[in-house]
Amino acid sequence: MKTIKDLDIKNKKVLIRCDFNVPLKDGKIEDDNRIVEALPTIKYAIEENAKVILLSHLGRVKEESDLEKNNLKVVADRLSELLGKDVIFVNETRGEELEEKINSMNPKDVLLIQNTRYEDLDGKKESSNDEELGAYWASLGDVFINDAFGTVHRAHASNVGIASHKEGNSAVGFLVEKELKALSELDNPERPFMVILGGAKVSDKIGVIENLVTKADKILIGGGMAFTFLKAKGFNIGKSLLDEENIDFCKKVLAEHEDKIILPVDVKSSTEYSNDTPMKVVTINEIEENDMGLDLGPQTIDLYEKYLSLAKTVIWNGPLGVYEFDNYKAGTEDLLKYLVDNNIKTILGGGDIVAAASNCNLKDKVFHASTGGGSTLEYLEGKKLPGIESIK
Ligand code: AMP
Repeated sequence: MKTIKDLDIKNKKVLIRCDFNVPLKDGKIEDDNRIVEALPTIKYAIEENAKVILLSHLGRVKEESDLEKNNLKVVADRLSELLGKDVIFVNETRGEELEEKINSMNPKDVLLIQNTRYEDLDGKKESSNDEELGAYWASLGDVFINDAFGTVHRAHASNVGIASHKEGNSAVGFLVEKELKALSELDNPERPFMVILGGAKVSDKIGVIENLVTKADKILIGGGMAFTFLKAKGFNIGKSLLDEENIDFCKKVLAEHEDKIILPVDVKSSTEYSNDTPMKVVTINEIEENDMGLDLGPQTIDLYEKYLSLAKTVIWNGPLGVYEFDNYKAGTEDLLKYLVDNNIKTILGGGDIVAAASNCNLKDKVFHASTGGGSTLEYLEGKKLPGIESIK
């Protein structure tokens, strides 16, 4: 795979697709990890005297009222602080002002174009990879670098569109290179190879389960999705999360791979989805009509630690409980801590599990914490990633 180092970018206009899709609260950045992760590629381009033109999406833009809350200016400000230099922000996604600002750039200048999804207001041009838009953005630079791992599973104008007009002059950045290298560890993993799957719904993880159940030595299941498996085994799950449509899928997986799928033996539950209603620990035989399972119980944490003590490689997607509530974060946090303390090669597959690891200061201690939840899932499903294919 060609990387930015394989292209001559000296004094050139270099378009870099970054993933600056950061979580915002009240107009402020809650977690700047994705901006920090983009820095190596941006700094390298600056060192090479390139004129650095950055593109990214932020949130979803469906109607006029989505524009201001997804304005990328806040990212330009943070990036400027992190780089210790001005970032020219252009409040346009196309047009004269943008072209003039690009034409007057000096080597080492950094410019950020407004949210690429502003183009979605007019017929979803960015998200549907509008041909004219991809060609236009490609015309703004000499070389294209895709460093937005979080969107490589999508074919949008700002990644696949631009790349298709820059054949021979496109490559991936250091973040995409790092992410792919880490994930490739799973192609031929050191064994035992174990998968931890949590999160809300079974439906989001069907492809991953189907693809990994034959490759992995064990799949440890937690989170809301565990209850659909328990229901499939005939347990009463009370008011716990149920993915009714996928009970049959769970039955089938259990019938074919009973030895590989490991399920909770006890849970922490409450009567409401709340941190404030009383919490109790029950075994899975004791869940009552009014109970809602919200985290793994202590016996399950012990059991999962015993399995993980044997593991050489672990991939983890989705939290094992409602980690956002203090009472129900132990399953996720204790097992994260166990993996770190025991130096087990662990890849966190983006999204909530990385946020959970960040909250308990363990993110930087694992082997790899991905910046792309959806991209990692599709990689694990064995699918091709359009953002990568378009560079190849
Ligand atoms: P996902 O996006 O599918 O990875 O799901 C993440 C969400 O699943 C988080 O917001 C968790 O709070 C939630 N979650 C985890 N365990 C449970 C559970 N037992 N019941 C309901 N939601 C859960």
